[in-house]
Amino acid sequence: AQVFNFSSGPAMLPADVLKQAQQELCDWRGLGTSVMEVSHRGKAFIQVAEEAEQDLRDLLNIPSSYKVLFCHGGGRGQFSAVPLNILGGRTTADYVDAGYWAASAIKEAKKYCTPNVIDARITVDGRRAVRAMSEWTLSADAAYLHYCPNETIDGVAINETPNFSPEVVVAADFSSTILSAPLDVTRFGVIYAGAQKNIGPAGLSIVIVREDLLGKAHASCPSILDYSVLNDNGSMFNTPPTFAWYLSGLVFKWLKQQGGLAAMDSVNQQKAALLYEVIDNSDFYRNDVAPANRSRMNVPFQLADSALDALFLEESFSAGLHALKGHRVVGGMRASIYNAMPLEGVRALTEFMVDFERRRG
Ligand code: PLP
Repeated sequence: AQVFNFSSGPAMLPADVLKQAQQELCDWRGLGTSVMEVSHRGKAFIQVAEEAEQDLRDLLNIPSSYKVLFCHGGGRGQFSAVPLNILGGRTTADYVDAGYWAASAIKEAKKYCTPNVIDARITVDGRRAVRAMSEWTLSADAAYLHYCPNETIDGVAINETPNFSPEVVVAADFSSTILSAPLDVTRFGVIYAGAQKNIGPAGLSIVIVREDLLGKAHASCPSILDYSVLNDNGSMFNTPPTFAWYLSGLVFKWLKQQGGLAAMDSVNQQKAALLYEVIDNSDFYRNDVAPANRSRMNVPFQLADSALDALFLEESFSAGLHALKGHRVVGGMRASIYNAMPLEGVRALTEFMVDFERRRG
């Protein structure tokens, strides 16, 4: 039976991409070696790197005034890289706290500055929600504003597009939502994302940074986190994660074949609507996030009777629906439904949920 993997990351990759990678694994481009074994400075890999960047630029409509960096260090690496690169001598930055990952970024930023924390966690009709951007009180001396538009663990999303005055540099952690829908890059100073959810395998992270923000890194910034150093070296200051970069490039081509980000947005909306509908139409399942802030990528849900959790996980796994256990911080279940999860996977999950409720409810 087909397996659908609802893991929050590392997450499912498109089946077509994996098939292509499998076919090319031992003999890439007729070279008699795998892509993992060729020099990152050789012509063949440089072509992969350049095509991946161009495809990403096409998908996100990234203006030429933004640099794209392919880095190591994951999302958490960027929790340090952002302050080290763009504090620019200032001592504070605005940090919006709306969930686990935003809070983790704040914890890291405290090593480099005194963040002005904007507590955006609110409750609407008894459900978890996020304060509207218009109510975020920014401080005058902040070097930048940081927020996380999709909280992978909490299942909370900030769907508004930032529209602050032009001098506000917005830095955002798009790790679990990048490429799931069109994005106006020009509203941001820095966009970063770990690859292992919507892009490709773990080991690669992507930074999209406005060029005027380069060259301001703190003297103590490690070279491998310094945006200017990475940019000046074509993201090859140290040996890049070449296999992850290659696979991500295949994912970008796959996304283009699907019709780009508008097409992904449409499928992602359908997937999320289907799942939330089953949850909302039942007293057996529950999601406690206010509708306006529900994530389209990560859907946490609880069973009314948590004594059935283990059975739900056992039976769903047997039905080919893997990795539904919720994060240890939140408990219950979580279905991550990134780009590579087909609509039929979500259908299979909802059919299982309805049937499980019928049998056990
Ligand atoms: N930010 C978000 C929104 C995440 O979901 C994660 C990981 O799940 C991270 C940051 C941390 O990423 P990494 O494990 O690549 O450091």
